Parts: sequence; C-alpha cells; structure tokens
Amino acid sequence: MPADAAQLSAVERALLARYCTNVDRRVFALRNLPEVVRGALFSRYSRTEKSLRRVLLDEFLTAGLDLAAADAAEAAASPVDAARAEEFYARVLVGYGDDSVAELAGAHLAVERVSNLAAKALEDARIGLSPLEKSTRYVRFDRPGPDGRMPYHRGPELAHPAYEPALDGLFDAYGSLLPAVLDRVREAHPIEAGETERAWRSATRARALDLLRGLLPAATLTNLGLYGNGRAFEYLLTKLAAADLPECRGLAGEMHAELAQVIPAFVGRALDERYGAPAAAHLARTRRRVAGLAPRRVRAAVPDRPAPSRVGAEVRLVEHDRDAERRVVAAALFPHSDLPLAELAGHEVDVDAVLEAVAGGRANRRHRAPRAFEHAQYTFEITANFGAYRDLQRHRMLTQERQALGTDLGYDVPPDLAAWGLEPSFGSAVERAAEAHQVLVRDLGWPLAQYAVPLAFRLRWYFRLSLRELYHLCELRTSPQGHPDYRHVAQEMFRRVREVHPRLVAHARFVDLGPGEELERRASERRIDRRLAELGEGGR
Ligand SMILES: Cc1cc2nc3c(=O)[nH]c(=O)nc-3n(C[C@H](O)[C@H](O)[C@H](O)COP(=O)(O)OP(=O)(O)OC[C@H]3O[C@@H](n4cnc5c(N)ncnc54)[C@H](O)[C@@H]3O)c2cc1C
Repeated sequence: MPADAAQLSAVERALLARYCTNVDRRVFALRNLPEVVRGALFSRYSRTEKSLRRVLLDEFLTAGLDLAAADAAEAAASPVDAARAEEFYARVLVGYGDDSVAELAGAHLAVERVSNLAAKALEDARIGLSPLEKSTRYVRFDRPGPDGRMPYHRGPELAHPAYEPALDGLFDAYGSLLPAVLDRVREAHPIEAGETERAWRSATRARALDLLRGLLPAATLTNLGLYGNGRAFEYLLTKLAAADLPECRGLAGEMHAELAQVIPAFVGRALDERYGAPAAAHLARTRRRVAGLAPRRVRAAVPDRPAPSRVGAEVRLVEHDRDAERRVVAAALFPHSDLPLAELAGHEVDVDAVLEAVAGGRANRRHRAPRAFEHAQYTFEITANFGAYRDLQRHRMLTQERQALGTDLGYDVPPDLAAWGLEPSFGSAVERAAEAHQVLVRDLGWPLAQYAVPLAFRLRWYFRLSLRELYHLCELRTSPQGHPDYRHVAQEMFRRVREVHPRLVAHARFVDLGPGEELERRASERRIDRRLAELGEGGR
C-alpha cells in the first residue's frame, strides 16, 4: 500500500472511492469527475509533492475542508470544486503559458448536418482529435432532412439560381438509380449457399451505395463525432475561424459555444481578442498572400467538358530518399549500439539481416512496422476521385494537402455502371452539376463552387509519409473489403515504393495486390453472422 494511502482516514477513503477506481494501489483511474477537474488534477503533478488523491481531497472536494465533522455518506454526496479547477487552469494557461496542460482533459462533440467540405476541414486536424463520420457505404443519403428537403448545405452565401437545381438533380439521380443498381448488384451476386439473407442484403446494399456515391455533391450533409483534448479543439476552432468557407467560420462559433459548457478553460482563448482572433487573422492573411503568389493555369474562356475516365487514379512517387536503406538500418541498430547515428550509418552491415530482424516476424498487420522505418520518407502526388480522397484523408500520421475540388480533372464512372448501361444517367447528372459548377466559379468564386462538385470528380493532393505509415496505410487500405477506388490508390502507392526500395517493403506482407472481392462486404458480413451466431442472435 503506498504510504499516503495508509494516512487516509475512513471518511477520506469513502469519499475517494467515489472518484478513484481504488484507494490503496499506485495505479488508479479517475471517475465521476468533470473533465476540467480531471485535467486540473493531472496538471498539479508537476507542481506538488502530494499524491493525486491528496490533491483531490485537499483542493477539489469541498467536503475535504471539514472531513472530521462529515460522515462518509454526506461527504460522498458533496460537490466537486469545478470552479477551483477552472481557476487553476486560467492561472496555468494564461499566467504561465503552459499550453500542454490543455491536453489533459477532453470532450466528445457531436457535429451534425454539416457538408462534406466542412467535415474535411474538421478532419484535417491530426493530433489530439479522433473523428468518426457517417459512412457513404452503409447509409443512403437521399432521404429528405427534417425540413423536407434533400440533405445538402444551403446558405446565404450560396444563393444562386444555378445551385439548388444542380444539386437536386444529383440527389434525384442517386435516388432513382439506387433501385436499379441494387437489382443489378443482386442479380450479379446472388445469395450463396450457407449465406444468410441478412448478410447478403447488407453486402449487396453496401456495393450499390458504393457505386453511386460519386453522384453525391460535396455539399452533402453528414454527421460526425469528434473526441479530442482541449488543446486540439482550441487550435481547430482558431483554424475554422480563419477558413474561407462561411460554413466553417459559423461552425467555429457553434462548436465554441458548446465546448465552453464542458471544457471552458481549454477553449477560452480559441476565439478571443487577445489570442484566438489575431491567430485566425494571421492564418487567413497568410493564405491570401501565398495564394496571390501561386501560379495557376490560364483557364480557357469556355472550359472543356469534363472527360469521363476509367483509367483509375494516378499515383506518382515524386520524391524518395536515395539512401533510405542506410538510414533505416542505422536507426534500427541505434538503440542497441553505443555508436553515434552518423557512425552507424557508415558501418558495413547486412541490410537484409537487420530488416528481417526488425520486421520479419510480423504475423498480421497489427504487428506494427518498427519506428526505424520512419527514417525513410516518400512524397506522392495523387489524382483520384473525391470519394477516394475523402476516405484516405483520414490518415493522420502523414503530411497532406489538397488542391481545390473542381471539375477540370474529369470524373470517374464505376466500371459496373458502364457495363450495366447506366453510365448515361450517371454521366448526365454529374455533367449537369459540372456545368453549374463552372457558372458558380464565375459568379461566386472557386471556394464556394466546390459545394456543387460531385464526389465522382477527381482531385489532386499530396501525401508525404514515412515507410512506417506506408506499411500501415497500404496494408489497411488494400484489404479486400475496402472500396475499390481507395484500394487502387493504396496498391499503386505500394507498387511505386517497391520499384525503388524493394528490400524496405519486403516485410509489408499484408498488402493485398489482388483484384479484390467481387462483393467487397461479403466476407465481412459472414464474419458478422458468425459472431451473431456465437451470441445466439442468428442472422437469418
Ligand atoms: C474498412 C474501413 C471502414 C471505415 N469506415 C469508417 C466509417 O464508417 N466512418 C469513419 O468515420 N471512418 C471510417 N473508416 C476510417 C477509419 O476510422 C480511420 O479514420 C482510417 O482508417 C485511418 O486509420 P488510422 O487511424 O488507423 O490511421 P492513421 O490516422 O494514419 O494513424 C496511424 C496509426 O497511428 C495511431 N494513431 C493515430 N492517431 C491516433 C490517436 N489519436 N490515438 C491513438 N492512436 C493513434 C494508430 O495506431 C493508427 O493506426 C474506415 C476505415 C476502413 C479501413
């Protein structure tokens, strides 16, 4: 038992039991406390000799002021001093400028009925935020919202006669093609012996929704949940306040108002006049200045009609380290050696043996590639449809930037739709949207015009990532149940690196370069059935 535990009175122990998972071991979790108090408690570690339980009693549990008089039941019902935690944060954050304490507590924030463009802006945040978003594979998007209208972003900034007709046309096409596509998918992939009706229906529905998601415009409303720490939220709010889309700037205020109710101390500065507003102004000013310097293609007076494309994504490896093997091997040996890194890099070693030793024993993709693999870096430029980008953008352990979503790079028609003779309906809906997009670019400017662009249109972005993240991304995103569009991108990324560094990718054994499943969700749904059966819930 830790020394301080022995010094707790019976009343104190009873009180602490409510807030700590145990009162006498050296490892315990906090519970039943407001986020702000949890964070403030942890931040006290750096400035006190006391144990955390002692700090909790002395500084935050108001009953702790007069424990001798209180009985255990009365003490346990006492309020926790959240005001003290707030005050502490204000002192540390503003007084000492120690921003990292704002990472010690977090919040779950639901953000609903926002466009896909706004969702991407939220998900651009990487460190300290975990998002989860409504899927275009499992949820159909053509159901009217509470206002009886199709679910896409509208706002005064988008008041233009071309906007709503173009977007309504896309949702009409999505809704009217869905039954036909579902029929074709079910004809092409009939239920198999031993397969449950539930599994078959789910797998075929997912495939139909995957095939049609290219019709959804970037304005399509989605729901997402964000879990994050205070510091990450603070920066996200400041970035949103600087965004060029009014929808994002509006979200900054809405999100701030809600977060201020649960973690006020952490987000107090995000939009204020002293810190947040000048930081946002700096971000916006910088963006405008750099944009003013960036060369752009001269646009044709009458833009070409977007060309349908079935060539798939273009994936170019634009940069890689020539001496990556040497760096990776030196980094792998470093913690086991007493030589400086530079000296290790000059040593003659058996590269294959070192790579085999650090990565050869991987039995599945969750056996991570070693940290030494972060010493090799690759830059890819990728052109693929916005649907594929939307999925791949979610990787955070890399550096990425996209160009504006537009219609100049053409769009993809899923091969199945073409084979089933449904290309004309699909193509005419996206081309009508593309025509509206051109008008909106002219009248409203390209940032707002992005809302009208369907997910089938192609977009250019870069990824700069390490070999370690390449293992992760390619092994995860080539799995056969994945969407064929992002699978193809991940396969191409892997092939490009294999061309230049075959030995470094030799242990990425769980990259699947095969053609994929004919019905991507079939195997997964069967696994779900097996689990349901184990739980006694049968799927038939
Ligand atoms: C088949 C499939 C279906 C999906 N369906 C949905 C869906 O319906 N909705 C949806 O929103 N998303 C969905 N996703 C996206 C998924 O939730 C992830 O955002 C995405 O796959 C990125 O994976 P990652 O976090 O492992 O990778 P990265 O962000 O690249 O991170 C690499 C690794 O770093 C570590 N890491 C990174 N950040 C953190 C962190 N904050 N905390 C702890 N560890 C971290 C993890 O080990 C992680 O695996 C789906 C993905 C797949 C493959």
